[in-house]
Amino acid sequence: MIPNFSNFSQDFDFGLDSKGVYYAETGRSFVNPILHDGKAYLEDLIDSCTHETLHYCLDDEDLRLDEKHEEWIIEILSKINEYL
Ligand SMILES: [Zn+2]
Repeated sequence: MIPNFSNFSQDFDFGLDSKGVYYAETGRSFVNPILHDGKAYLEDLIDSCTHETLHYCLDDEDLRLDEKHEEWIIEILSKINEYL
């Protein structure tokens, strides 16, 4: 099933105490650009944006995933390009 992205939003939040967060209750996601650094800054920032977006994509009552399951699936999906 393709998620309906009209219920999803993502913004930068410079005061966030983590790289990113997703709120299932509202479908809102925030990423803190300041907490990403190093030579791979842009790649790390995009990874966080993708990570939080995947939380939204997996946010489906029918999937019945706990947080650990969801993090494991996102980890696999984020590395899939390495194996293609
Ligand atoms: Zn996560």
